[in-house]
Amino acid sequence: MLLFTPGPTPVPQNVRNAMSEETMHHRTPEFEAIFLKTREHLFKLFNTDEVVMLSSSGTGAMEAAVINLCHNTLLNVNSGKFGERFGKIALANGLKNVQITNEWNTPVTVQEVIMAVQNNPNIDAIAVQISESAGGLRHPVEEIAKAIKEINPNIMIIADGITAVGVEKIDVTNIDCLIAGSQKALMLPPGLAILGLSNQAITKLGSGKGYYFNLATEIKSQRKNTTAWTAATTLIIGLLEVLETIEKDGGIEKLYAKTDIRAKSVQNALEAIGLHVYPKTPAKSMTTIDDEDASKIRKMLKNEFSVNVAGGQDHLDGKIFRINQMGLIPDYEIAWVVNAVEIVLSKLGRRAYDGTANRVFNETLFGK
Ligand SMILES: *Cc1c(COP(=O)(O)O)cnc(C)c1O
Repeated sequence: MLLFTPGPTPVPQNVRNAMSEETMHHRTPEFEAIFLKTREHLFKLFNTDEVVMLSSSGTGAMEAAVINLCHNTLLNVNSGKFGERFGKIALANGLKNVQITNEWNTPVTVQEVIMAVQNNPNIDAIAVQISESAGGLRHPVEEIAKAIKEINPNIMIIADGITAVGVEKIDVTNIDCLIAGSQKALMLPPGLAILGLSNQAITKLGSGKGYYFNLATEIKSQRKNTTAWTAATTLIIGLLEVLETIEKDGGIEKLYAKTDIRAKSVQNALEAIGLHVYPKTPAKSMTTIDDEDASKIRKMLKNEFSVNVAGGQDHLDGKIFRINQMGLIPDYEIAWVVNAVEIVLSKLGRRAYDGTANRVFNETLFGK
């Protein structure tokens, strides 16, 4: 089965091998050396003043960011399930919350965020997805961050980059907290989350909030190449292997360029066979198609072509399908996927098969 869901994503064979060694004790010089190397790679990937690894899924890092960096009112951008989650985290932790809600295909505008901040002086942090995975939507996070810092530099900008870090270069100049998770663009099993933090964020969080997710406690330990609690040793060993693999494969800029052209190729191929891209501003992490036959297409892709793509949640259940574009994906695998979609459409009687999807995919990818 080809796993083409936008998380979890496939784990490369060499990374699985690296994680198959005997369990290492986390309080040893051997593990500390691995931790240090991983941290050095992460500083290059995040471009932030500090990085922190947590043993949790991505949502744990979202909670850590909110409780440590928001002390009054959180403004969250809700154009999908993950954006909505930030608001729920704030309320669950006794914080106040206001949100900007849009349909899942619609990015928030800089103006909407500015207005919300001007209407509520208690907002001290803003949380937004760079790539909102619910509909495959790209929010203009860097522009929002810049505009808000010009109005009030003390407002913390929390950017969920779980399907963006490792997908495209992110300008972190005005971002205080950038979040990544292991099972999406980082090609690992679930269970590890990473936060990149600005010096201003570190000042604001002071002695930290919470216990397990107290970022001050973690930063103190991680600067000494250890963790406050038992480290997810196996996943960190896997992360180092991933980051070294990216480097050996030509570096992160090459991965960004490959992901960018892959995203364009998939989108062009599917539009050429009459399909419609759902988000108004698509993220590079995935292509999301809205279609009345979305459920049937997904089932046929799985049963007849061994391709597993994701569906939609809530009101988009059965209405969209999402194809992953994150990670080190062989060209021939994703070419197989777009071709399979075209055959499925012909089987559904929608369009005679003539190889258009594959042709357009290859023309875009190879620049013909
Ligand atoms: C997957 C995802 C999350 C949540 O991560 P979990 O690992 O499921 O906790 C948060 N934000 C975005 C954008 C995601 O894609």
